[in-house]
Amino acid sequence: MRLVMLGLPGAGKGTQGELLGRRLAIPRISTGDMFRAVLRSETALGRQVKEYVERGELVPDHLTVALVEERLNQADAGRGFVLDGFPRTVPQARALDEKLRQIGRPLDAAVFIHVPEEEAVRRVSARRVCEQCGATYGQAQVEQSGGRCPACGGPLVQRPDDSEETARRRLQVYLSQTRPVVDYYKERGILVEVDGQQPIPDVLEDILRALGQQGNAGVSGG
Ligand code: AMP
Repeated sequence: MRLVMLGLPGAGKGTQGELLGRRLAIPRISTGDMFRAVLRSETALGRQVKEYVERGELVPDHLTVALVEERLNQADAGRGFVLDGFPRTVPQARALDEKLRQIGRPLDAAVFIHVPEEEAVRRVSARRVCEQCGATYGQAQVEQSGGRCPACGGPLVQRPDDSEETARRRLQVYLSQTRPVVDYYKERGILVEVDGQQPIPDVLEDILRALGQQGNAGVSGG
């Protein structure tokens, strides 16, 4: 399947994208993760994108689209993919459509996870990432973890762009630039909407059901 995940920062795109990827045996492709890797690499591209990411602004479309196109050309994406964090503008959505049209494999669905704005800001301010392996944890897991990553033992820290001020900026950017992408897919009849304020397994089950895949998906499921 070829899917994109849509929703506010903190809606659960990464969590659900990861679970869907495992469940459907397709790679989750996160542009945020790709940009953070580029930043760490200290290349010319890294210097170009640094300011945007740190301020919670969008990286310009031409850089983002080029990065995604290159990633989609890799062999594993031939089986399908879950894009997490892309597209975030209508021009990006059009570029993706054009790329997929060229290879004759259009998107199957755009999954929109709905959560209220205040809930999204609260989740983003509370979540932490592992400095070592990059895994993200919500508030409940962070409280149980003793400050260490349950997966690898690395220290849990706040993403710099998850500070309340930058998170609010990202929310504004979402409302002005990304929200129209939801309408773009709705008009094309491939938007799937789910309630993101349920337990993680229930959100996953709703998505799978809407995609015509089997329900009853355990969170750990494989
Ligand atoms: P994320 O981890 O998806 O919240 O992305 C973190 C940051 O990476 C965003 O705030 C942007 O600065 C940048 N970014 C990620 N995806 C995109 C995109 N599709 N277009 C432009 N910038 C992006």
